[in-house]
Amino acid sequence: MASQIRSKPTYLKRKRRRRINWGVLIPLLVLLFAIGYGATTLVLKWMEPEEVVYEYSLEGLTVEESKALLSNANIEDGEYKLSDYVLYGESLTLYAGMYDLGVKDPLLGKSIMCRNLSTGSEYVFYLGNKLDEGIPIYELPVGVYEVYVSSLMSNERMYMEKETFEEFYTVTRKGVNHRFSLIADTNYFYSDDETLNLEKPYLYFMVEDAELPAEYYDIIIDPGHFAYDCYADSCYGYIDNGSVTNNGKFIESEAVYDVSLVVAKELALAGLKVTITRDDVTPVDMYGVGGRVHKSITNKSKYFISNHLNAINDTRVHGAEVWHSAYASTTFAETILNSLVDNTILVASGNIGGGNPIPSVISSTVSTSKYGKPFDGFMMIREPGGKGTCAGQLSEAAIEHNGPFLEGVNYGANALLIEYIYMTNKNDAANWEANYESYGKAVAKGIIDYLKLDFYDNDFIEEQE
Ligand SMILES: [Zn+2]
Repeated sequence: MASQIRSKPTYLKRKRRRRINWGVLIPLLVLLFAIGYGATTLVLKWMEPEEVVYEYSLEGLTVEESKALLSNANIEDGEYKLSDYVLYGESLTLYAGMYDLGVKDPLLGKSIMCRNLSTGSEYVFYLGNKLDEGIPIYELPVGVYEVYVSSLMSNERMYMEKETFEEFYTVTRKGVNHRFSLIADTNYFYSDDETLNLEKPYLYFMVEDAELPAEYYDIIIDPGHFAYDCYADSCYGYIDNGSVTNNGKFIESEAVYDVSLVVAKELALAGLKVTITRDDVTPVDMYGVGGRVHKSITNKSKYFISNHLNAINDTRVHGAEVWHSAYASTTFAETILNSLVDNTILVASGNIGGGNPIPSVISSTVSTSKYGKPFDGFMMIREPGGKGTCAGQLSEAAIEHNGPFLEGVNYGANALLIEYIYMTNKNDAANWEANYESYGKAVAKGIIDYLKLDFYDNDFIEEQE
């Protein structure tokens, strides 16, 4: 048993076994006649079940059938050793070696097959190079799965180098959350029966309907700025309000707070559990315990949206941009930008950044500097990203202030940074007040579309079949 395993499963069907010891009971019944009613209480005491055995059974299967399945490694065509895993948003990637930025793992580009032990259904996922191109954990239906690395030729059963147990939650879709447990243990299901021990900690995924714990959130909205520290990994020591134009009347930190409230409200109306990194009264730092990254990591937000307005010397530059991690695909950012452009008066800024394939959908600048690894330069994309973006490991401020609470964390939020407009452009600035609400609604719509919030809707599932 892994020491990190906190609880035995209590949620699947179990059978209760009552044992009555007839060899004791029959003579006792005779005795009952002999000595009359006075012995009744004694007999009742003896009739109490001497042992209650709780045993594990898979949905639709008997305990014996389940035991046969769960105590068999089912090594079809060999075994495949895993060393590490990362959850980014709701995308789970498995690694043959230890995860590190810029290291190409041999598992990337391979297919993972999850076999449901109750139904035999097989679900195949391709592991892409990007953090958001792993196994979408919300797509696996409720059940217990064996996990294989799969090809046309073979299915190799996966096991973890070390015993592992970790629970993740999906975001709320139509009122439903799934708890996704990654289990690698020689005997998770029958720990009181040593005859059922597996040789190695083979990997299982267990998916259950579960209520999202009170302290967890689906998504966190970050109104940029209004902090004592800043985005460039150093501290100002005074409150940073972002860009300020129009003779001090147009203040980025205030404007992005307004639009953040719109985004948060729309997402809550769509059934998501939403929180926000700050209000408009108390400045909240990015780094450190109690800061924005800390909040996102401890409440296990799956998505992190940082709202900003841009500024540049060239006042002709205008329009919207969405920035994403250099280690994530463009998909999420592109969905948001499309929604902004399709549903509001905004245009894409046309910024082609460092040669990004889609103008205005921009990869967070990769910086190598003195840390020797290429990492996301935008700390508000890198640090909420957790393990996948090596949060708390690069840059002195991140190591000092975020490193301690990110230690041992295997997950992180899929983080985007939205620059709605250029405050330095006359039209963009003039249109803000009358239109920011439509901008916020469009961003929320993009998020809702990206998250497929109707995924557990029956109509949607039928359509897919
Ligand atoms: Zn900003």
